[in-house]
Amino acid sequence: MKLAKTGAILSTAAVLGLGACGETETYNSSPARQDQVTAEFKKGVEFWKKQKTVTGIGKIASTKLVILNGDSTFACGQEEFSSASKTLSYCPNPSTVIAPAFALNEMNTTSIGAPLALAYHTGHELGHAVRNREGTAIPDASHEQARQAEEQAVDCTVGMQLAVTHGQNDMIAIGRYMYDQHADKIHGPNAKRVEALMQGGAGPCPE
Ligand SMILES: [Zn+2]
Repeated sequence: MKLAKTGAILSTAAVLGLGACGETETYNSSPARQDQVTAEFKKGVEFWKKQKTVTGIGKIASTKLVILNGDSTFACGQEEFSSASKTLSYCPNPSTVIAPAFALNEMNTTSIGAPLALAYHTGHELGHAVRNREGTAIPDASHEQARQAEEQAVDCTVGMQLAVTHGQNDMIAIGRYMYDQHADKIHGPNAKRVEALMQGGAGPCPE
């Protein structure tokens, strides 16, 4: 997907759900999903605060989690997210992991179940925060190859985190889940993503 002019880094396209008559549909996430995404976010932040091996980890300290329910929205530059946005996303300024209700509810349909799927997706968006600092994230990620390399570098950081916060069995389940996703041009081939995850799990990611 495109990199927003504002520099928004998104997992996939943020799509506003438009209902009949142009009214925006709104969604509410279950308390269980909200608790899970909050817990995963905290686990990830605590992990990264203790690390010294990825140069961008300073960004983590100021990163917030925003859960979008009902008619609440979040503006990331010129990009606006709502409770109907389809995926978890990362906004670099202000550094924020965005968890729309629709995306949280979609976790119920994943093959590995909501808690593990959320562990991965939350870790991935935090990985963008980790890498989103001058000199760390690949600068011109608007080019497909560079973008995919950056997304895979993010998945490597997810591996670093999940190996510690969740352990090997969960890593393997998450690797399978990633492998079964629909491949897209933003993130690149699934096998590469899984490889990056496992590389992170085995040791520090290349800076
Ligand atoms: Zn991403």
